[in-house]
Amino acid sequence: MRRVTIYDSMARAPRVFAPRVPPRVGLFVCGLTPYDEAHVGHGRVFVVFDMVARALRRWGYRVFYVQNVTNVDDKVIVRAAEQEEDPLALSDRHFVSYLHSMERLGVRSVNYYPYATDYLPEILEQIQQLIDREAAYIATDGSVYFSVARFPGYGRLSGQKVEALVPGARVEADARKHAPEDFVIWKAATPGEPEWESPWGPGRPGWHVEDTAITNRLLGPRYDLHGAALDLIFPHHEAEIALAESATGQAPLVNYWMHGGLLMMNGEKMSKSLGNVSSLEGAIDEYGPAVLRFFYLNAGYRSPLDFDPDLSLTEAREAYERLARPAGRIAELLARDGEERAGRELPEVDEAASEALVEELDETLSNDFNSREAIALLFGWTRRWSENLPGLSEFSGEALRLLEAPYRWAEEVLGLFPRADSTRSGAWATVVPVAIRARARARARGDYAEADRIRDELRAAGVALEDDASGTRWDAARE
Ligand SMILES: [Zn+2]
Repeated sequence: MRRVTIYDSMARAPRVFAPRVPPRVGLFVCGLTPYDEAHVGHGRVFVVFDMVARALRRWGYRVFYVQNVTNVDDKVIVRAAEQEEDPLALSDRHFVSYLHSMERLGVRSVNYYPYATDYLPEILEQIQQLIDREAAYIATDGSVYFSVARFPGYGRLSGQKVEALVPGARVEADARKHAPEDFVIWKAATPGEPEWESPWGPGRPGWHVEDTAITNRLLGPRYDLHGAALDLIFPHHEAEIALAESATGQAPLVNYWMHGGLLMMNGEKMSKSLGNVSSLEGAIDEYGPAVLRFFYLNAGYRSPLDFDPDLSLTEAREAYERLARPAGRIAELLARDGEERAGRELPEVDEAASEALVEELDETLSNDFNSREAIALLFGWTRRWSENLPGLSEFSGEALRLLEAPYRWAEEVLGLFPRADSTRSGAWATVVPVAIRARARARARGDYAEADRIRDELRAAGVALEDDASGTRWDAARE
């Protein structure tokens, strides 16, 4: 396994990565709350952590990557009410569309997308543990609150002081709470909203506890790596730590916290309330998945990044083409003539340079996933051979393979310069069953239009579904 350094938000410093049980790595990334279509900011986070998982796997780590789906939540319920739609149907619809975007972007590293609503037993168990340990209390209406004062470490990740959480600023005053900073982990049922039975009466889980119940079940009480964009540090990740560590009595919940920088829109934070949100599907249509991936990864993952269609995206497209054109030309020659292709060999100095560069790319990326620097190395390589060597068509298959090696590295790790034959395979095994489950749920509630829409969308992406007595089988047409 390669030595990897990760900037850990908890330590506020780079640390050498040491998984608890090497080579296994438990990776959790806060997933989508599918109350609406995914936007370009989501694309950035999920492409970055796709790169992280791909790179760790290349370097010998066995990554189990879990990304949850917050399919029941205030935002989902509010939006569903506005649109007079079933909340779970609304989130299924957006989630399937999100998976479609991920597939187009080449995000294939997630092992499992657990739905919050499939983990009610785990959620109830964790809430009960918190009550038993007197870290949570039952309010008069049957809601359950976490008592922040019971967790002395609260605020360590974000640097927030509990005293600063005055009502009106970050938290709302509420007569049901013992203290204004306490937060809800079980919400007593409201008529017309989804609800589940619990020992405290019907209701639904709060957001934070969904994540910690899922990670406790799938990754254990302590795990290696947690990722998300930095706007989730407070209150969400602070709450995750407080809940999980209070419930299990084990600490730390997470050994390394990775937080990605925000995607800005013309210099402003992108947000629904400012109305400056650009849809992810729309951006993939407009720029193409590879250019968008390149745009995301051609920046330090912790830095803010400006999404500016007239400037940054146009530049990204031009820059990407400077690499993709020669990479594509080499792949084309190799696909046509094979490695046996006759021609001149590469000068020895360039052969050695190709091998050294692949090592340098790994080394560069292992320094806190510095994809920007890795891409700069690819530009250097492209300049070097295109300015000093004769035309590509003169070279042998072996020479082309050496010229190509750095681009193939980028295909494997960064997901750039994809070749036709390298698309779809692993991802379908994860993605398709989720879509099939969403379709089964739609059929179970009699929403056949939605079920057919999911089937048609899968078909358009090359996946055929077949229903029989034992369930739904699927087959992906290979290109
Ligand atoms: Zn989360």
